Amino acid sequence: MWNARTVSSRFVYRRKMAFTMQCAPHSLKLMSRCKTRRLLNNFFHQSFQLSSTNAPLSSSFPDICSSDMKKEMEKYWRDKVNLYDLNANAKDKFYVLSMFPYPSGALHMGHVRVYTISDTVARFYRLKGKNVIHPMGWDAFGLPAENAAIERETDPAVWTSKNIMTMRDQLKMLNYYFDWDREFATCDPDYYKWTQELFLKLFDKGLAYQKEAYVNWDPVDQTVLAEEQINTNRRSWRSGALVEQKLLKQWFIRTTAFAKSLLEGLDDPTLKEWRDIIKLQKHWIGDCNGISIDFKLISEIPDFPKILNIWFDMPEFVEYAKFVAISPQSVLNRKEYTYDIDVGIKGLNAKVINPFSGKELPIFITDKVIYPPWRDTRLGIPSASMDDLKFSELVGIPFSRHSIRSYEQQQQKLSEIIQKAKEWEIGGYPVSSRLRDWLISRQRYWGTPIPIIHCINCGAQPVPRDQLPVTLPKMTHLGSKKKFSIHDAKDWLQTKCPKCGGEATREADTMDTFVDSSWYFLRFIDPKNTQEMFSVKKVQTDFPVDLYVGGKEHAVLHLYFARFMSHFLHSEGLLPCREPFRQLLVQGVVMGKTYQVISTGKYVPESETIMEGNECKTKSGELVSSHWEKMSKSKYNGVDPFNLLNKYGIDATRLLILGDVAPTSTRNWSEKTITGINNWQNRLWKLIKLFKDEREKISIEELKSEPTDSKYIEDNAYMFDSRNYFLKNVTFNIVESQQLSVAISRMQGLTNSLQKVGIECKRKSREYERALAVQIIMLAPFAPHFASELWAIFCSIKHHLISDTEVDLNKCLFEQKWPDIDMDYNLVLHVYVNKRDFLKMKIPRCKLDLMTADTVLEYVILNPYYQKYSYNKNIVAVNFQSKKGCDASLYITMEKQKED
Ligand SMILES: [Zn+2]
Repeated sequence: MWNARTVSSRFVYRRKMAFTMQCAPHSLKLMSRCKTRRLLNNFFHQSFQLSSTNAPLSSSFPDICSSDMKKEMEKYWRDKVNLYDLNANAKDKFYVLSMFPYPSGALHMGHVRVYTISDTVARFYRLKGKNVIHPMGWDAFGLPAENAAIERETDPAVWTSKNIMTMRDQLKMLNYYFDWDREFATCDPDYYKWTQELFLKLFDKGLAYQKEAYVNWDPVDQTVLAEEQINTNRRSWRSGALVEQKLLKQWFIRTTAFAKSLLEGLDDPTLKEWRDIIKLQKHWIGDCNGISIDFKLISEIPDFPKILNIWFDMPEFVEYAKFVAISPQSVLNRKEYTYDIDVGIKGLNAKVINPFSGKELPIFITDKVIYPPWRDTRLGIPSASMDDLKFSELVGIPFSRHSIRSYEQQQQKLSEIIQKAKEWEIGGYPVSSRLRDWLISRQRYWGTPIPIIHCINCGAQPVPRDQLPVTLPKMTHLGSKKKFSIHDAKDWLQTKCPKCGGEATREADTMDTFVDSSWYFLRFIDPKNTQEMFSVKKVQTDFPVDLYVGGKEHAVLHLYFARFMSHFLHSEGLLPCREPFRQLLVQGVVMGKTYQVISTGKYVPESETIMEGNECKTKSGELVSSHWEKMSKSKYNGVDPFNLLNKYGIDATRLLILGDVAPTSTRNWSEKTITGINNWQNRLWKLIKLFKDEREKISIEELKSEPTDSKYIEDNAYMFDSRNYFLKNVTFNIVESQQLSVAISRMQGLTNSLQKVGIECKRKSREYERALAVQIIMLAPFAPHFASELWAIFCSIKHHLISDTEVDLNKCLFEQKWPDIDMDYNLVLHVYVNKRDFLKMKIPRCKLDLMTADTVLEYVILNPYYQKYSYNKNIVAVNFQSKKGCDASLYITMEKQKED
């Protein structure tokens, strides 16, 4: 039985030791990390010598491994599975990043899903010998914290840090192996100092600029919203308020300057598994088939906007523009601004100055021209467009021909125009009509202050670098529920102009939080650097992120802004490549079942419903319909991950979350599969128990004796085959296809194979022992504690047949290597002819590993099937794709013959 009384005295001793070890890191806090690790390693080494290395917790083996037993194991192994950082000096790094959370106060199922995925992959690559970077931090600025702080009359900083503490504790309860020494929050001055530096880098290059424009104003949250933060009904994505248009001076980042680079970057051959995200990004950026220019507006109307941004194609003809047309839907179409001309045509009491010709252009409000998609403004160039010519005749603009004739003239003019526009900092970058510059000003308190000082004489001046960070002023509450305004921080606002030394004012806007998260993956590489954003030397080795795991809701904007910053920093010579994320894993949403009263639409908890025949009703008899919807408190369909943890323990919860449904698919949450998970764990438990029992009974002589079972040789070969087959498939499903659920079912396949063979094979076969070892090692990234216990039991067995070049029985599970396919195992060569499946050939790994496109073709040509069907056709091209220890593919392109 598994209870306190049966626990051996050795166990009691070990628990004490575990306690000492837990304390050790604190007392060693001041030492360098390396030194601490060395000391700890020595400590381990010594203490393990006292008993046997890598000892299991279990000293008794009931038939069933209960949840309580598993939880005991988790307590016992919790620190040990996260202590080994043996690959810190390995040459090969693997940077796995899960999107950092907003510190809302509690982890939900979506978080648990994403971090379980990244933790599993990180543990896998640690076993593969990579120096794994798996950081965690907090996307901590933003409106929800500010609104919550106003509501509770507290400081957003206090509110945020409390939430971070809670959520960090929760992550630790789940025992994810994060690099906690890289942790930061974007609201730490040590972090936002460098967000400000990034802003100034952009400012220095003319890529951060201020302009007055009509902006989307959220009257509830009292702030500007970017176009991207408004839904199709013109409501704020956060507050739900109907958005208003307001004329304000705002800070923008000239993201359009990199539109073409960002579009082309999507064709980078190193991007892996981006799937439909490429399409989303391409759609967002659009075809870069025109340019947009900020034209000066002149008008005698008071408080009229000074700038009009117009997108147009054929920039080479801009000098011949004759008018500007504005759609009646435009915010400028106001009675007091316009005069009537004709039916459907009004004039605007303002003019646009064409900087390329120096001419003033009249402005018409009309629906008689076609506007570019996403735009309500059109630049009229009658000499280059039939439509513009027709409209100019309507309003009586005389026609004049342009003098550009040849293609060469056109190209020369084009580059001239673009160059001038860039020089004047009014735009001129190739861009789609859809894409705008990024509006980053927010009129809210809880964000990174924009490091600018406004002087009446010198204009907007950057804060000198040695004065960074510009920290947020401390805000006191002015009466209940009143919003914070930096404009109330009078002392903070007042400063000296860095240029002339005169009285000046600080910028009171803060940055959009998307700026904070646009470069955090770079800071994780060098989080403690006090001299620069990150060391250029460190990013040479640790950048880019190899795998980025996160939700699809961030696959457009966040990804676009993060890519923009990387492209920019790469253009500054600070990054080795421009694309920041090599492989993406966009995880599906976790859905919960909702119950809705049909007559009222009211949501009710499942516990308040009953089934009557086929009908679902409330207890008072109202009909209820049920659906799958994203988990949410207001819909009563959320699942608290900590209830799962209490019921099943960490590892079973991990397997429950990773099993059955691919990480990229939507998950309709159900705990029904826990039975399957528990059964599998029990089968593994029984296998290891049986193996231990059998090997304990047997003598060395008997172990080495000739087998008596006639099936033994067959079983042995079957185990050899199973080990390699399932190892190949599990590895493939982690590295290539990202199907962790399939990897789990392949591991279960190996368990079936292990169960199937005869008792003599289980007792005496080296191949069986090797397959059992592979089973446990493969389980390690998925269920680290349970697998560690199985491994320790495996190691504690008296006689072993497995070679010590394959595993180290004196060491813990996480010090083992991810196993390798045997050299004499037959891998598969897939041969495709003209993209069609043609032939599969089995080739031993030792031979396939050495093959090149030439030698593999020579080999395939000799195949009788190939000879029969394709011998007399001409080969046009050959493409051979292979990786050591994996199946390979050969793509042959053949001359098409008439009968094909
Ligand atoms: Zn000044």
